[in-house]
Amino acid sequence: MTMERIANYIDGRLEAPRSGCYIDNIEPATGQVYSLIADSDAADLEQAMTAANRAFPEWSALSAEERARLLLGIADRIEAETEPLARAESIDTGKPISLARQVDIPRAAANMRFFAHAITQFASEAHSMGPLAINYTLRQPLGVVACISPWNLPLYLLTWKIAPALASGNCVIAKPSELTPMTAYLLARICIDAGLPRGVLNILHGTGPRIGRALVAHPKIKAIAFTGGTRTGAEIARIAAPQFKKLSLELGGKNPTLVFADCDWDATLATTVRAAFFNQGQACLCGSRIFVERPIYERFRSDFLARAEALEPGDPLDEKTQQGALVSELHLHKVLSAIELGQQEGGTILAGGHRVTVPGRCAEGYFVKPTVFEDLAFDCRTNQEEIFGPVATLIPFESEAQVLEYANSTEYGLAATVWSRDVQRCHRVAQQLEAGVVWINTWMVRDLRTPFGGMKHSGVGREGGVEALRFFTEAKNVCIKL
Ligand code: NDP
Repeated sequence: MTMERIANYIDGRLEAPRSGCYIDNIEPATGQVYSLIADSDAADLEQAMTAANRAFPEWSALSAEERARLLLGIADRIEAETEPLARAESIDTGKPISLARQVDIPRAAANMRFFAHAITQFASEAHSMGPLAINYTLRQPLGVVACISPWNLPLYLLTWKIAPALASGNCVIAKPSELTPMTAYLLARICIDAGLPRGVLNILHGTGPRIGRALVAHPKIKAIAFTGGTRTGAEIARIAAPQFKKLSLELGGKNPTLVFADCDWDATLATTVRAAFFNQGQACLCGSRIFVERPIYERFRSDFLARAEALEPGDPLDEKTQQGALVSELHLHKVLSAIELGQQEGGTILAGGHRVTVPGRCAEGYFVKPTVFEDLAFDCRTNQEEIFGPVATLIPFESEAQVLEYANSTEYGLAATVWSRDVQRCHRVAQQLEAGVVWINTWMVRDLRTPFGGMKHSGVGREGGVEALRFFTEAKNVCIKL
């Protein structure tokens, strides 16, 4: 059987890498190679850059309505292809197919649709100086921009970046994660089918250190929108800052969940379990540090454990599966060593804590049982460093001041969730939490108009809504003497 070769998308065509080199693409649920990925390098980048530069004048001169029409065509095709895309995403990432079908693919279509509509409503400011002069602001596209996305929500996060970049008139060179390239490849085919003009979007596959780094360093790249790990974000900033490129960095998280004694029990419990183990804990928004007010701690622990233990990893393509595989063997070992560290730090494992063998075709897959720790100090490494896997810790707290100290103690500041029926407390705590996103009595509810991003080491800048359109445009003030 010949394996599918995942090609680049350059100048409106699917292109083999110039070098002829490919990387193995492994299905995490089986540990088997199932396709080959273009291992792109500087030669492919030059070809994409030439195409993108050539396409820019015409694309940026199109009316917002015309660009929106093309993006809506892509959104419609993503929606029509939900089933094959969900299956591809599930195979490539190890996530349950039901999750890909309910979350990843619909959200990819929604991203395209949202920014198609947003650009037709995008307005800029005018500042009057009375009889003296009037200023107005032009917001013009930047040129060719880079969009670099991670493996946990591949099509969801790729479209979250390329949609506003394209809508505002830029041409894009995108690099998806080498671990999960399949849906980006399928998106390229959709773009060809939808009639997206040649060179407007280019997708290069390959490794971060090779093609990712070259893309970031390319002098003609005007802006970089990156989602990924904090260490990679720092490396990108180090290269891009001296070239004065615009940077949007959406980085890691170690998000706290604050459970007060007056919470709505059933809603809190169900959502807190989901927030901890969604996508096998591989989401930047997962709530992995769960702080529970002392009077309800024992009862919460026992109910939480019962639900966590019921989450049995299984074949991601099985409709009933709620926990799939971790994305790679390397990541599996990273998560297992984090569990080992938790034990060395004095943590007690209440649930999970080990690899799981799923019988049948998934016997070699990368599965870990949802793991729950207690007896770990809020400031130990397990509670400070991002694990990005199905590992949660339970920590009791005595007072509002104490839980705020615990919650804000990490170097991260992406998201936080508060569970309480006391409205005043919710507002008070939300104001003091060091996080770019705070959910009260809910989790993962996303309005695409709102600013999204993190504080501290969780990122620089905000994406979403007008923030994204502003990021991908240059503001120019025009002052006219009256
Ligand atoms: P990485 O930082 O390893 O990779 C992210 C992307 O950057 C991948 O496409 C990767 O390519 C590429 N890359 C790696 N090195 C370089 C480099 N030197 N120059 C340019 N590009 C590079 O993150 P992961 O893919 O491991 O994703 C997990 C991380 O993403 C977690 O820390 C998570 O918290 C964060 N994340 C943040 C979100 C947010 O919105 N704040 C949302 C989702 C995830 P390749 O994989 O091919 O090496």
